[in-house]
Amino acid sequence: MTETRELIIIGGGPAGYTAALYAARANLQPLVVEGFNWGGQLMVTSDVENYPGYPDGIMGPEMMAEFRRQAERFGAEFVTDDVTRVDFSERPFRVVVDKDEYRAQSVIVATGASARWLGLPCEQHFQGRGLSACATCDGAFFKERELVVVGGGDSAFEEANFLTRYASKVTLVHRRDEFRASQIMIDRARANPKVEFITNAVVDNIVGNGKVEGVVLRDTRNGETWEFKTDGVFVAIGHDPNTALFVEQLDHDEHGYLVTKPGSTETNIPGVFAAGDVQDHVYRQAVTAAGSGCMAALDAERYLAALEGHPGTALTAQV
Ligand code: NAP
Repeated sequence: MTETRELIIIGGGPAGYTAALYAARANLQPLVVEGFNWGGQLMVTSDVENYPGYPDGIMGPEMMAEFRRQAERFGAEFVTDDVTRVDFSERPFRVVVDKDEYRAQSVIVATGASARWLGLPCEQHFQGRGLSACATCDGAFFKERELVVVGGGDSAFEEANFLTRYASKVTLVHRRDEFRASQIMIDRARANPKVEFITNAVVDNIVGNGKVEGVVLRDTRNGETWEFKTDGVFVAIGHDPNTALFVEQLDHDEHGYLVTKPGSTETNIPGVFAAGDVQDHVYRQAVTAAGSGCMAALDAERYLAALEGHPGTALTAQV
């Protein structure tokens, strides 16, 4: 017999762990299927300088380990694996992890988003051979090398600045001449003597014999192409939501982000909630993800309490 839980949380990032913390404190004994690579995007971030309460900053992975530990302290349990299938058509809901099936009265989806790639045929070939989407993971391999960072948002600027810890020069390549990044990030990069900029250009190809040796850039105004020598390429052009498992069953927008009712984390299926980057393409911050994880736990708690014949839990003081 498969045991039925009150709540399963899918995803182990700021949203999932915050939901787990709140749900555990409300005695819902949540099971967190946190993913094989738990921690989410903060595991591939360097210093987190904008999470309130950490005036000196904190490393992303350290912060995620602390989030997890805090949820565990109140009784959250974890499955460190990826969900392979969900079935929200039947109650209790089914959450399948390979050969194991878990069932729950309610589910919070907090699977986050993943880095986007350029879509070049050669990208797979060069991954791990000079092409990366994670400066924190791979930056240290490029001591005294010259690098290209692609993108014009906060991620690109953050990666460019971070990579100058190792690289002798970082060239940020952006397809327009205006940046989406926040002014403080732009100012920091402009003040960094190791950072250079090529605007109105896209990467058309990556070249090299076995490893990255250069990129073919194309001027977006006149179509002119030229080869630019580099030892590595870091792609930082945004993210896509991790919703492949859910799009058949849950309402989503044209980019795949789950749709929640305004002011709540409710999806189109009562008892299924969505929190964090999987439903937020606007703010996408650790602190907003954590906030919506908290909302999802409170929404789930309220939903469970209202289920007929369900013992439920009274809404408890959450502070
Ligand atoms: P983003 O803001 O969506 O920026 C993506 C950038 O990549 C844009 O400049 C975009 O160009 C460019 N781009 C997209 N597709 C491209 C393609 N196929 N080829 C070339 N360029 C392409 O994504 P992000 O920088 O990852 O940031 C996401 C969110 O996280 C933002 O809200 C950001 O503020 C936040 N964030 C914050 C921090 C921080 O505060 N420490 C750090 C990282 C991220 P266009 O501008 O032309 O569209």
